[in-house]
Amino acid sequence: MPILTPEAPAVPAVPRARNSRLKDLYAEIQRRNPGESEFHQAVHEVLVSLAPVLERHPEFAEPGLIERLTEPERQIIFRVPWQDDSGTTHVNRGFRVEFNSALGPYKGGLRFHPSVDLGVVKFLGFEQIFKNALTGLGIGGGKGGSDFAPRGRSDAEVMRFCQSFMTELHRHLGEHTDVPAGDIGVGGREIGYLFGQYRRITNRWESGVLTGKGTAWGGSAVRTQATGYGNVLFAARMLEARGTSFEGSRVSVSGSGNVALHSIAKARELGAQVITASDSGGYVLDEKGIDLPLLQQIKETERGRISDYAQRRGAAARYVPNGSVWDVPVDVALPSATQNELDATAAVTLVRNGVRAVSEGANMPATPEAVRMLHQAGVAFGPGKAANAGGVAVSALEMRQNAGRETWPFAEVEKRLADLMHGIHDTCAGTAEAYGSPGNYALGANIAGFERVTAAMLAQGVV
Ligand code: NDP
Repeated sequence: MPILTPEAPAVPAVPRARNSRLKDLYAEIQRRNPGESEFHQAVHEVLVSLAPVLERHPEFAEPGLIERLTEPERQIIFRVPWQDDSGTTHVNRGFRVEFNSALGPYKGGLRFHPSVDLGVVKFLGFEQIFKNALTGLGIGGGKGGSDFAPRGRSDAEVMRFCQSFMTELHRHLGEHTDVPAGDIGVGGREIGYLFGQYRRITNRWESGVLTGKGTAWGGSAVRTQATGYGNVLFAARMLEARGTSFEGSRVSVSGSGNVALHSIAKARELGAQVITASDSGGYVLDEKGIDLPLLQQIKETERGRISDYAQRRGAAARYVPNGSVWDVPVDVALPSATQNELDATAAVTLVRNGVRAVSEGANMPATPEAVRMLHQAGVAFGPGKAANAGGVAVSALEMRQNAGRETWPFAEVEKRLADLMHGIHDTCAGTAEAYGSPGNYALGANIAGFERVTAAMLAQGVV
């Protein structure tokens, strides 16, 4: 990790004292949270943006404020025992990090993946504070999950795991307290099992306690699509600001889960040709454009692999096992799989191949070095905490519908999502401009999110 100077993205010069205070703070965070490299990375990425804010707004430099912002309000770690179909007992670890509730109940997804540990959950929870603040809605930041791997497990095994997970987690949740949703490995099936167990244990129809529910039992229209749609809408606004659009462009998408599938759908709707998708085994290049119904059938219905898509698609598609999807020349890249999937080498390749925009559907998919290179090359870069905020924004709309026992039509929610994404884009762009770095969305997102949440924290005193 580089030392804490705002070398890039470019920010205005600031006096050494501010930088030196932020540097000391970062060193202390590393010391107090050993081994949590993703959390360190996420914190560093925000701190490098803050020196000019502290300069302009001395109230945000109040001792202890950033220390409180970087320390979760509560961290819950618990045992999750469950039995597989053969009767063998497994023990996983469950997490919920309730990071910041200055703006509303903790809100953020649950991730079920073998790579989940406390550092991963804290990085996601920390990002979530700023993302949720950027939506302008009343939601705090949190995140959770488990090192459980749903892939290859039967529905009955996933159900037993979810029931065991919720048996502990339920005591920490509530529509006014903490409201989880999905993330990697947690889709509609898992949310259903989790909600069922919550309802059974509490004997309450508290629909606002989880979002991403089925639309027949309290879910919102567009929630499933919201993250992918939102990222493409954000990217479209970035392109528009540069006098261009998705129309006729070549687009690469990584991943083939919830965010990837709906990014592909929306980019196609806006006239783009999406030519890639991937999973952890490799990527597929489909020069005729990804056949979305086929990919959805394989991924959503059959829970299959991207290699199955290549096989069934025939000559149109080429499967590249273990390859980098970023080797494919495109106009726009939409990383939609996982953290640190787009490194400096990939960024250099994308730039050499003429990429115009990169927008993060996933959380922190581009490494700090990659982001720096994209900025230096003048590529429009949409940071995840802004670009993928559509998912949580529609989750907040789901909470509103639940509170009012209402169901809004698809078109209405889609319109609200578009308005929210445009608003988030314009907030990031306007803030970056106000701080002397026009076009630097990462800087704008960090500063705008920081200002909103810390203003609320200051008003509420030292808690
Ligand atoms: P899914 O579980 O639906 O899909 C995840 C996809 O990413 C799969 O194709 C998976 O492949 C791939 N993937 C996961 N881990 C790795 C890895 N280590 N290496 C390579 N590929 C990997 O998750 P989502 O689509 O919901 O989430 C994708 C990203 O978007 C995450 O970063 C998530 O935090 C972020 N996000 C999601 C939101 C949502 O509403 N769902 C909201 C905001 C952000 P494989 O099957 O091989 O593991």
